[in-house]
Amino acid sequence: MELLRLEHITVSFTFPEGEITVLDDINFTVNEGDFIALLGPSGSGKSTILRVIAGLLKPNKGKVYYKGEEIKGVNPGVAMVFQNFALFPWLTVLENVELGLKAKGVPPEERKEKAIKAIDLIGLDGFENAYPKELSGGMKQRVGFARALVMEPDILLLDEPFSALDVLTAENLRNDLIELWIEKRIPTKAIILVTHSIEEAVYMADRIILLSKDPGRIIKEVRIDLPHWRDKKSQEFLDIVDEI
Ligand code: ADP
Ligand code: MG
Repeated sequence: MELLRLEHITVSFTFPEGEITVLDDINFTVNEGDFIALLGPSGSGKSTILRVIAGLLKPNKGKVYYKGEEIKGVNPGVAMVFQNFALFPWLTVLENVELGLKAKGVPPEERKEKAIKAIDLIGLDGFENAYPKELSGGMKQRVGFARALVMEPDILLLDEPFSALDVLTAENLRNDLIELWIEKRIPTKAIILVTHSIEEAVYMADRIILLSKDPGRIIKEVRIDLPHWRDKKSQEFLDIVDEI
């Protein structure tokens, strides 16, 4: 089933020197079950695509459809995880995770219960009352994931969520996410991961959408036909990385 469709998305920004086209005619569809990587160099418009999908930025041209309906305001079917966590330092882990539910008008008891469940799921139980400054980078990003997952979005938007973390911490979090996804322990129906790492894209995604820069355009789409728990040292894996 189709969840999301981008049709002819074009975004430009006006500078004193003139207009710069950041995204040029972006078209793709996200179906239930898709784990997509948007792969491209820095400045190719990956974050801009996520902002358009979330309804936070209106494209100059083109349309976004969520379950067949054109998105005009904020997209109700998505939640986002950011590279730099974007936690509120004056709020506890629990309060950070509850915030989105509070904004939606979910009653206190119910939102606390849901937040605790999301925190447990992502491996942070016992840290509900900690403040962000008491947590490591990896734990902060786990709060970022809990805050997105608690909203039970159909589509999870991940904007380079591992790139501020050290190698081992990033790998642990990647593997925990893959496990939650393939075991269907999260209600999310599709994931869009933005990354500039070919290896990360091939490790995690089932479909890779490759973007060029200046302007951001889709240059190819690659399907990854490898089983989950991919071996980065296997010849098949290396061949796909080479091909991209
Ligand atoms: P990526 O996430 O792939 O690194 P971005 O989507 O952040 O790329 O940005 C793509 C280009 O658009 C960059 O050149 C960036 O400077 C520009 N850009 C993004 N947002 C704005 C904005 N609000 N105003 C002006 N330029 C922007
Ligand atoms: Mg970006």
